Amino acid sequence: MCGIVGIIGHSPVNQAIYDGLTLLQHRGQDAAGIVTIDEENRFRLRKANGLVSEVFRQEHMLRLQGNVGIGHVRYPTAGSSSVSEAQPFYVNSPYGLTLVHNGNLTNNAELKQRLFTLAKRHVNTNSDSEALLNIFAHYLDQYPAEPLTPDNIFETVRKTNEVIRGAYACLAMIIGYGMVAFRDPYGIRPLVLGKREENGKTEYMFASESIALDIVGFEYVRDVQPGEAIYITFDGQFHSAICADNPKLNPCIFEYVYFARPDSVIDGVSVYAARVHMGRLLGEKIATQWQDILPEIDVVIPIPETSTDIALQIANVLNKPYRQGFVKNRYVARTFIMPGQAQRKSSVRRKLNPIAAEFKDKTILLVDDSIVRGTTSEQIVEMARQAGAKKVYFASAAPEIRYPNVYGIDMPTCEELVAYDRSVEQVAEMIGVDRLVFQDLSDLFKSVQLENPTIHNFDASVFTGEYITGDVDKEYLNCIAQARNDKAKANLAQQATNLEIHNES
Ligand code: AMP
Repeated sequence: MCGIVGIIGHSPVNQAIYDGLTLLQHRGQDAAGIVTIDEENRFRLRKANGLVSEVFRQEHMLRLQGNVGIGHVRYPTAGSSSVSEAQPFYVNSPYGLTLVHNGNLTNNAELKQRLFTLAKRHVNTNSDSEALLNIFAHYLDQYPAEPLTPDNIFETVRKTNEVIRGAYACLAMIIGYGMVAFRDPYGIRPLVLGKREENGKTEYMFASESIALDIVGFEYVRDVQPGEAIYITFDGQFHSAICADNPKLNPCIFEYVYFARPDSVIDGVSVYAARVHMGRLLGEKIATQWQDILPEIDVVIPIPETSTDIALQIANVLNKPYRQGFVKNRYVARTFIMPGQAQRKSSVRRKLNPIAAEFKDKTILLVDDSIVRGTTSEQIVEMARQAGAKKVYFASAAPEIRYPNVYGIDMPTCEELVAYDRSVEQVAEMIGVDRLVFQDLSDLFKSVQLENPTIHNFDASVFTGEYITGDVDKEYLNCIAQARNDKAKANLAQQATNLEIHNES
């Protein structure tokens, strides 16, 4: 999962894009980048590995001149963590193009081949986003006559949609013309549009989550629709069109479970409200299914931070005390971002510390938003026991995650998922708890649909193994398992280290 921001303004946008990226930092901490267009129609680019606050220093901000720009925070799934795969990506032809992408394409290898045979275009990295940009560039290049019209751009997006597969929310800038925002025909990854009036002129902003608009000072207008492209010229003309046949909203349900900030609204659903419903429904399930052990539970404790809103609801439904028994060091990055299992393990302990009094001689119900690999959960349970807990029960606000994610979440192989091929009892044993409960998938859907009943389908492939884009088979899953397991990632990072091009340091 990544975060993207784009602004078409009438005054310098560097600070606003920086602020927007900081607000989306939870969506990716591996790399960050911004590109602007200066007065002489040149791209100004800065990207590097690290957090937004580490990547951009005063000297970079001064160089990022211009009233329009796009930015990206990266969470690596396809490809490696190398800086050569940090975004935005750039190609010089036609016109000069830059692009940022959130999501993951499922036919990257085929696209690279197609680009080479059709257009003699070379893709220098393993990044699907670089392939995506080149596909877009290739089709845009089919319109020789100047000026480029909105129809040319919509036709380009339509052709791009026809050949690329997977999940994508993108922003592209075309020198001399404008910014194009487009979202895949399933609307898997989120993208919102905002605007504001400054000195009588309209400025526009796109962002992965509404929270970025709110804080930067733009008013939420609407979500970009599945299969839609919005083209805004640099002088402020607004055009939009649906560029796919039968587009249908299937948002990624994991955005609501874990990724998005609770204060964001995605596809008409308040993430916070959805989590409150998740807690209530899970609480009701526990109340019916755990009647034998309910009287024993002394306290409900969330595993910070995503699950706090959920745990509070469970405590309310069960009529039990809610206590924040773990203190989080918020200056340690999320553990799953770490490339190898060993680092992932040690960083859990650095991140969380129990308040002994909340555990000593108590039977506790721990709540997390989900159980993925089980490494965090196992260590947290161990910590709870070391702090004196008599018994540890565990509730997961998401159902069992059993299948890899191919749309931009780093869950590449079945074997790394603790619930794969295991029963609830076996998972309980693996993570060391006395009893475990998972949310029912129908209740998870309901939690989101209660906020927006017009959403009928979701990308819920990590729970069901059904991939809505219809092109994901066993062979592809084997392929990504090979390419993206922890060992392969370490190798890739090594290989890609020196590939960096077009970047200001
Ligand atoms: P674990 O079960 O030890 O992998 O840790 C699960 C915790 O990490 C939960 O809070 C998850 O929501 C969170 N998490 C979110 N995304 C991922 C991911 N891609 N890989 C691993 N853990 C994730």
